[in-house]
Amino acid sequence: MKDVDISIIDPDDRVLDIGEYNASVMFCPFCYPEYIDFGGRTTIGFGTDIYGNTVQVHECPVCFQKSHHHIGDIHSYEIYKNFKSLGLLKSQQLTNPKTKEPKQ
Ligand SMILES: [Zn+2]
Repeated sequence: MKDVDISIIDPDDRVLDIGEYNASVMFCPFCYPEYIDFGGRTTIGFGTDIYGNTVQVHECPVCFQKSHHHIGDIHSYEIYKNFKSLGLLKSQQLTNPKTKEPKQ
């Protein structure tokens, strides 16, 4: 079932590398059982999975692995745009918090 059509996502907000499927949605499957809460700030964009579903892509702030989950409604995108406009996304930080090196 396609809940949200990818066409509503601005091309600037789309990513090709969607990483691993994350059934747990809001915490990092790579860091499990350590609990890394994704919240909304770790979203790096949106894409489509092999089934054509629109997915939300997160990058873990600890291990930097990418993972994705389906988005059920437009609110996920609205929240992302709101965070982005406020400069709150992790991906908008100028330095990698782990290495303190400037981001590429
Ligand atoms: Zn992680």
